[in-house]
Amino acid sequence: MHRSTAVVSFLTAALALACATSPTGRQRLVFFPDAQMNQMGVTAFTQLKSQMTVSNDPQAIAYVKCVASAVVAEIDTPGAPRSWEVVVFDEPSANAFALPGGKIGVHTGMLEVARNQDQLATVIGHEVAHVLAGHSNERASTELATKGAMGALDALTGPASPTKDLTFAVLGVGAQVGVLLPFSRAQESEADVLGLDLMARAGFDPREGPVLWENMARQGAQPPEILSTHPSSATRIANLRQRAEVALPLFREAHKSGRVPDCS
Ligand SMILES: [Zn+2]
Repeated sequence: MHRSTAVVSFLTAALALACATSPTGRQRLVFFPDAQMNQMGVTAFTQLKSQMTVSNDPQAIAYVKCVASAVVAEIDTPGAPRSWEVVVFDEPSANAFALPGGKIGVHTGMLEVARNQDQLATVIGHEVAHVLAGHSNERASTELATKGAMGALDALTGPASPTKDLTFAVLGVGAQVGVLLPFSRAQESEADVLGLDLMARAGFDPREGPVLWENMARQGAQPPEILSTHPSSATRIANLRQRAEVALPLFREAHKSGRVPDCS
């Protein structure tokens, strides 16, 4: 078969198999099994814990865990991790991330920028939303597809084997690369929307979402997440203000139902 014909027919087959709709209706390519993504997330998290200093500040840990547990309690996505490991890293950068497999990391520097529990819930909701929406899978799948390595699909999506490990290694889709690829702007906007709804359902005030991003812009802080591509902060703040109005009834409903987090 002519090479381009082979590529087209393969891509057609792969798309039929793997083209899925994101939670906000985007068409995207996702073909790694969840178990594979979760394993990559768990491995990457272990590596990050060995590379960075894990905080032993009991107050900071209790505060972050209080906010995170309230947020993840509202997750109703089928197949989502049942339990989430929350680790505070003693790092000055205003960073935070969540990984497939139920892992959340927050740098102590983020606690300077996220000045109250609602702002921290905005960050955690956003990061967890990336995981719930399968954004790592989407990026890893797109990365692999653009590398022209789709022929490796069978080997990659089958059961674990030395061949599969080798294929991953050859493609450079190692644990960290696989789950820590930069997110796209479309994914960032999606995580903002889903994350704000999630934190509001947990009883955090969504009007603090845009305030967080104003703090971030004022400090000239790096956006959260290692390797992230973020929409410009002015656009993001405007969009978050609009979304906060949509999420406000969820927040009020949560308070009526007794979900009133007190993590300060
Ligand atoms: Zn993000």
